[in-house]
Amino acid sequence: MSCIFCKIANKEIKSSIVHETGRVIAFDDIAPQAPVHVVIIPKKHILDVSGLNEVLEDIFSAVDQVAGIKGLRDSGFRVVMNKGMSAGQAVDHLHFHLLGGRSLNWPPG
Ligand code: AMP
Ligand code: ZN
Repeated sequence: MSCIFCKIANKEIKSSIVHETGRVIAFDDIAPQAPVHVVIIPKKHILDVSGLNEVLEDIFSAVDQVAGIKGLRDSGFRVVMNKGMSAGQAVDHLHFHLLGGRSLNWPPG
């Protein structure tokens, strides 16, 4: 399996882990777009949003945990999922970006 996020989940590639459970792992993005930029993934290789159902609760409880760990519950944060080419999805393993620590423009570009 050559998926980079599977390798992060299996600890074959080192990452800065923020939060981890049996089913999800959250790590600092290697190219952060905000002072806080965490990637949240299911450990299981799920291709994209069409497989979200089985991990939805795990993902969003991790979102809440990470927001707390990073001190963003009061100031706020954004959760983003890029799907497909026009959104710039670079890794074909379902993932969510949690961004915060600065003002975030709306609409996103
Ligand atoms: P996306 O464009 O939605 O597919 O986002 C993929 C994200 O994964 C990008 O923000 C990358 O910076 C991030 N990324 C890629 N490789 C790594 C890595 N080894 N460790 C941490 N983040 C990564
Ligand atoms: Zn994968």
